[in-house]
Amino acid sequence: MLKKNREWSARIQTESPGYLESVSRAQKPEILWVGCSDSRVGPDQLIGLPMGSVFVHRNIANLFATGDLNCLAVLEYAIDELKIPNIVVCGHYECGGIKAAMEHSGIQPVDLWLDQVRFVYQRHADTLNQLQPDKRANRLAELNVEAQVHNICRNTIVREAWRRGQKVNVIGVIYDIHDGLLKQLGIQYSSQEEWESGYS
Ligand SMILES: [Zn+2]
Repeated sequence: MLKKNREWSARIQTESPGYLESVSRAQKPEILWVGCSDSRVGPDQLIGLPMGSVFVHRNIANLFATGDLNCLAVLEYAIDELKIPNIVVCGHYECGGIKAAMEHSGIQPVDLWLDQVRFVYQRHADTLNQLQPDKRANRLAELNVEAQVHNICRNTIVREAWRRGQKVNVIGVIYDIHDGLLKQLGIQYSSQEEWESGYS
């Protein structure tokens, strides 16, 4: 790891002299990324934006848990301090967290965390139960993205920002792990009015 890091540092300082120094002075990210911790879905690789462009929050199954202090602190800092205009919730197909939520429950920390996915499942059980198991997990991953977008839009940090006229665009996308492409889900809200009409 350290060897790779030294190679990377040397390469970037040769190819782009002064770049690291300029980045070290401040960050001005355009995106708050809420994604899964899965090692295959890191945003730096997926969207190829330069350092300083993406403020990242990741956890198992890309949840925005309304009772989780970590989630709330990230959202507050992103909106109130960094004034990030775009929040992207990115789920992915073949998500181990989604599959685990469907397959078993329990009282271990991961099980308790994934209860939030089970709530999404229960809400959409009628349509999900008609699908084949592999398609069911992928559809649940999409529905879970939608649920997390609503959790973010429902939060007072976002609603206050909208009320005072700050630009906050909340978008849900899903990453297809088979072809490396991000797919839009038609979930996007940039005002309280838009969100309320979409939510109803
Ligand atoms: Zn995942």
